[in-house]
Amino acid sequence: MNKKRILVTGGAGFVGSHLCERLLSEGHEVYCLDNYFTGQKENILHLTENPFFEIIRHDVINPFLIEVDEIYNLACPASPVHYQYNPIKTIKTSVMGAVNMLGLAKRVNAKILQASTSEVYGNPMVHPQPESYWGNVNPIGERSCYDEGKRAAETLFRDYHAQNNVSIKIVRIFNTYGPRMHPNDGRVVSNFIVQALQNKDITVYGKGEQTRSFQYVDDLVEGMIRTMGSDDSFTGPVNIGNPGEFKIIELAEKVIELTGSKSKIVYQPLPSDDPLMRKPDISLAKKELDWEPKIKLEEGLEKTIAFFKEIVK
Ligand code: NAD
Ligand code: UDP
Repeated sequence: MNKKRILVTGGAGFVGSHLCERLLSEGHEVYCLDNYFTGQKENILHLTENPFFEIIRHDVINPFLIEVDEIYNLACPASPVHYQYNPIKTIKTSVMGAVNMLGLAKRVNAKILQASTSEVYGNPMVHPQPESYWGNVNPIGERSCYDEGKRAAETLFRDYHAQNNVSIKIVRIFNTYGPRMHPNDGRVVSNFIVQALQNKDITVYGKGEQTRSFQYVDDLVEGMIRTMGSDDSFTGPVNIGNPGEFKIIELAEKVIELTGSKSKIVYQPLPSDDPLMRKPDISLAKKELDWEPKIKLEEGLEKTIAFFKEIVK
């Protein structure tokens, strides 16, 4: 195996910690960079005994220099509650973080992958969403700091590639869930599971008719690693998500069933600009990466419920 030095920004977060774990298990040297805004040391504590794992406290809005072969740029709060807490910081993280990490990639000649998002499609007018769809995004709404920040980051990646020949990859990640999601981060899967385990009301926003497609974190990590390993000529963007589409009300019912909870469903107002539907077209990932998700919603939920049972205790 070809041992690589790999930088993971946002490495102490939910997805980042799984990615670091997987890269270490493949024998690479991993540098986990994080400012701990939404990430936690607990997520990576189990990796610290590995001498090829290093933790760096740093904020990506400031430049950073390190000799590496590959960079996975994940640093950015991902849940609406967290990214709307300080929207200016969120867009700075996306845009200045992209500039700083692309500058680093250019300087040390590293390959760099951007964790983009299905939010670049906004409230989509095309369903399911292929990469060729340009999206329907409000530039001045509550979600804009995140959506437009990620869109601008994609533009920066594209331009560093075109202008400076930096080797880039862009993955558009659809709703991902699994162990190590922050119990208070407000995302739907963690909210519903924590509420169900505590027999509290399950908070469905709107009528729960809006849809999402939920991907288990291991499938995402596999997709990201395959994208990084793809031919230099393949830059993406490529959708990485599970095409299984569920109404939010269906998710609530499934979580109640799997936890055997006594919780009741209550309805709360739908947040502004909340997309009505979302489902990835993954033809490109199948063709270019020979990738498709393996883990069904029920199986992934069971693993996630087992994790949250320990936390709730
Ligand atoms: P997360 O909030 O758990 O992780 C983000 C990590 O980035 C945290 O550890 C946080 O402390 C760190 N971070 C935030 N701002 C930073 C800064 N300025 N400098 C350094 N570190 C910073 O979220 P996640 O779900 O693990 O998401 C990881 C990446 O994947 C994000 O870029 C997110 O936009 C993207 N993504 C995730 C999903 C999903 O469903 N989980 C969907 C689409 C895209
Ligand atoms: N949602 C909900 N109850 C909650 C949290 C979220 O009904 O307690 C809804 C939310 O309005 C959205 C969907 O679930 O329609 C997914 O929300 P999440 O914040 O997980 O992700 P995103 O909106 O970014 O896809």
